[in-house]
Amino acid sequence: MSTPSTAWPVKLPETPIELPAIVGGNLVETRSREVIGRRHPTFDIAVSRYPRATTADVGEAVAAAAAAAEKRVWSGLSGAQRAKILLDVARRIEDNLDEFRRIECLECGKPVTNAEREIRGAIAHWEYAATLARHTYGDTYDNLGGGQMGLILREPYGVVAMITPWNYPLLIISQKLPFALAVGCCAVIKPSELTSGTTLLLGRILLEAGVPPGVVSVLPGFGHDVGAALCADPRVDMISFTGSTRVGKEIAGKAGAALKKLSLELGGKSAHIVCADADLETAAQKVVIGATRNAGQACVSGSRLLVERSIAREFLERVKAGMRAVRVGDTLDPATEMGPLISTAQFDRVNSYIGAGQRDGATYWSRPSDGPDRKNYVQPGLFTAVDPKMSIAQEEIFGPVLSAIEFETVDQAIAIANGTPYGLSAGVWTRDLDKAFRFGRGLKAGTIEVNTYMAGTPELPLTGHKESGSGHERGRFAVEEFTELKTIHLQLN
Ligand code: NAD
Repeated sequence: MSTPSTAWPVKLPETPIELPAIVGGNLVETRSREVIGRRHPTFDIAVSRYPRATTADVGEAVAAAAAAAEKRVWSGLSGAQRAKILLDVARRIEDNLDEFRRIECLECGKPVTNAEREIRGAIAHWEYAATLARHTYGDTYDNLGGGQMGLILREPYGVVAMITPWNYPLLIISQKLPFALAVGCCAVIKPSELTSGTTLLLGRILLEAGVPPGVVSVLPGFGHDVGAALCADPRVDMISFTGSTRVGKEIAGKAGAALKKLSLELGGKSAHIVCADADLETAAQKVVIGATRNAGQACVSGSRLLVERSIAREFLERVKAGMRAVRVGDTLDPATEMGPLISTAQFDRVNSYIGAGQRDGATYWSRPSDGPDRKNYVQPGLFTAVDPKMSIAQEEIFGPVLSAIEFETVDQAIAIANGTPYGLSAGVWTRDLDKAFRFGRGLKAGTIEVNTYMAGTPELPLTGHKESGSGHERGRFAVEEFTELKTIHLQLN
């Protein structure tokens, strides 16, 4: 086991960080409860612990949220009042940035600077959603003839179940919750059992900022019991799920049978397309970031590189040089850019894909390690001689492993890019505007970034096409997701 320096801004805790669950406005401590504990993926010490939520907690939390929705304790406030509270939440996250950063860094095993970037991204979503609280409204029809008039109201779904994954815990809940709160929904949240800490801290901050008790609960628990019970509860009107396509399909089956409103943000196998006319230096830098940020554990990781054949040899050397330069190391060191994978299970999964790619005949190169072996680290790696049908080019590896495929024409690149079940995002590098638009039109993905990558911002929606999901988060459209229309048709004298 490697030991960290004691000089960094985040230190390993002497005792695990303890956070209460939030069940219907009550803080539930770890005393007298079974506990979920999280160990650091590399240092292997206990970093946090919280009470393990139960299906009884689900019942209590949903009942409180349903009662709050029924009594309109939150939706009855004016948009301006809700906006004020959302902005206050943003300010309080910022005031507690060190603690959020510490928890995210320790539980996820992500570099401290990456954790800070994530927290700041989350704050931006709370600030942006606050603007929408005052700008969500329906429509009026005064052109129906005679004394007719139509009012179209936009009403919040009452209780929204929110289920989130482990890779960007605070950011992902912040792509849902502030938008749902902006329009007056209540929420019961089940964060990932691996990284619940920042969502629990957020839940406490919501209460301090004046979100009425019961409007938001946070239940740290497992998917098979707490997550499943939450989705099955008939008082839940909508499920907003971010996670794997496998679990998303399972939830979709049950939500479909119960006719619940559903929003899904699922897996990806994003193509990063580099044309010969691109700014190759910047493209190579972003391709490396796209493949290695968060150790490749991002839904929008650019895990496939599609490179134009005429520049492939040169460009792949640039990518290797970029991967060599990634600062892989101690995640508590502010200079570190890449840390470990979330768990040994994920480490084994990534290595099994590396083995499969080699057995399938692709050539694997990986950045030489420049330090002692650290637990659960995978060095950035590049597969070449990849056939688009290989598993390394089709399936989500969720590690810092890039699969490179060569193309000759725009149409060929589009066909390869679209040739997986996923459709989350894509990157295009070209100086030719016509070509950029051909890609923009032809690629089946919710987000297409041109001459930039992983530049997401709260104003722009995140939408999964194909098996990457349905519905959308972020952007002004996000509030539509959390509301349904009601028509009032009047006959006036
Ligand atoms: P996962 O699907 O295993 O788990 C996600 C959440 O679902 C967790 O909270 C888990 O406890 C819960 N869960 C598991 N089984 C459940 C069930 N039967 N009923 C209800 N809840 C259940 O995903 P993960 O491993 O935590 O996260 C990685 C995945 O998330 C990747 O596929 C990644 O692409 C995806 N992801 C997508 C986006 C996006 O915006 N599209 C963002 C981040 C991550």
